[in-house]
Amino acid sequence: MHQVQRNFYAGVMGFPVAHSWSPRIFARLSQILEFPLHYRGIEVQPKDWDEALPVIQRLRLFDGWNVTLPYKERFYDWVDELSPEAKAVGAVNLVRLAEDGRSWGHNTDVFGILKTLEEQNLDVGRGLAVIYGAGGAALSVGYVLGLQGASEVWFVNRTLTRAQAQCKRLRRLFPHTQFVAAEVAPVRFRSPPRLYVNATPLGMKGFPSRSPMRTRAEGGALAFDLVYAPESTPFLRSAERQGLRRVGGLDMLLWQALASWEIWVGEIPKIQKIKKQLRQEIVTQIR
Ligand code: NAP
Repeated sequence: MHQVQRNFYAGVMGFPVAHSWSPRIFARLSQILEFPLHYRGIEVQPKDWDEALPVIQRLRLFDGWNVTLPYKERFYDWVDELSPEAKAVGAVNLVRLAEDGRSWGHNTDVFGILKTLEEQNLDVGRGLAVIYGAGGAALSVGYVLGLQGASEVWFVNRTLTRAQAQCKRLRRLFPHTQFVAAEVAPVRFRSPPRLYVNATPLGMKGFPSRSPMRTRAEGGALAFDLVYAPESTPFLRSAERQGLRRVGGLDMLLWQALASWEIWVGEIPKIQKIKKQLRQEIVTQIR
């Protein structure tokens, strides 16, 4: 793996970016790993996109950046090369500018989801899973479940057409998994779900404080909330009352930061230990 030896300039690009936890996480990582990675918010208003991007690229103000809303799809079209995950989910959330000036688009959502499920010892295998939401993050969850060979994956979303579009995309990639779109959760699934995922912003600071889960869940399953702030959400509290195992979105967020670092700078030694340390420090801040 490559290892960058010089100062590295990165950031998070989106609009707005003031709420992002990434600058805090990367500042801390830079201290822990004793490497000069300089990271900042790069707020680009949609009206400025056409002018801002060529300037940023030509002046090489940054060596790479994370991408947040509303630009993940735009960068998909903008970069020169795509990683297999970015190509599969049709969205770029990390850009790396190579030495030769070419831009690479990656998607670290997939890695963050895979690592979180791995830490929870959850491989859906031939089982059934339910995803609430049908945006970019939900699609990445569906992609991971397709990779795991799930037999059935439900997308439950308030806009049915969006859930249908995600199912159509995933069916082409994973013909052996049944992808089902629904507007409201069906009362009875064919077999007890092994995984319930909240991929909507419900429960996040500034959004309605309720859970998207309407049906009674089956005990023993895992409830995974992609929301990471606050740590305890209505979805996770409802899962707790129903005896489910639970994990919030912080682990996914941290694994994505670590993956970004490795793509930009190089391998992180003792990555599990670093992740544990970061988690302990950050979790107290998001409570
Ligand atoms: P997105 O593309 O905007 O999709 C949002 C989804 O949530 C859509 O399906 C939308 O439904 C649904 N939704 C929004 N508001 C709702 C409401 N009031 N009631 C019911 N459904 C609602 O967003 P995304 O990028 O997929 O992100 C989804 C969530 O995952 C966010 O909370 C984000 O912070 C979180 N996330 C976390 C991580 C992490 O590292 N932990 C990474 C990525 C994303 P419609 O289709 O009907 O609009």
